[in-house]
Amino acid sequence: MKQVLLSFIFTLLALNIHAQAQYTYQQLGDKYVVSVNNHEEVVKVLTDFCKDMNIQAGSIIGIGAINEATLRFFNPQTKKYVDKTFNEQMEISNLTGNVSTMNGKTYVHIHATLGRSDYSALAGHLLSAKLNGAGEFVVEKFDGKIERYFDKGTGLNMYLFESK
Ligand code: FE
Repeated sequence: MKQVLLSFIFTLLALNIHAQAQYTYQQLGDKYVVSVNNHEEVVKVLTDFCKDMNIQAGSIIGIGAINEATLRFFNPQTKKYVDKTFNEQMEISNLTGNVSTMNGKTYVHIHATLGRSDYSALAGHLLSAKLNGAGEFVVEKFDGKIERYFDKGTGLNMYLFESK
């Protein structure tokens, strides 16, 4: 019994160490300055960060360097997503996102402009991005909570406001 308890505690510790290894941050008022660790997946870390800080409504901005990104394009006619992955070194010249919840789970919606080595840019809805260099973000926590719902008409997860 004692051994089972000990291994449970060690597992919890290991999970906690892993969770903390994804980023470092400093809180300044209602804003968090977040540095995502190298080689981590940016969207996952930002989502985990919002979960860790219990942010249920907010905004995200950021810059950084990545070597892989998957962008998602929504076709309003078919209501389907088309995903495309780019494997090359790129600058996140801008990342803008918002934080809400859907069915009680943290929901991070992020768009980005990605600069290529020839100084041209890719842009779109950012599904995932692998950091290769620095990743510097600011997450602002709003007071309260914003929930989403699936809107059949558009095929999108829209804001659910009480005034709706
Ligand atoms: Fe989007």
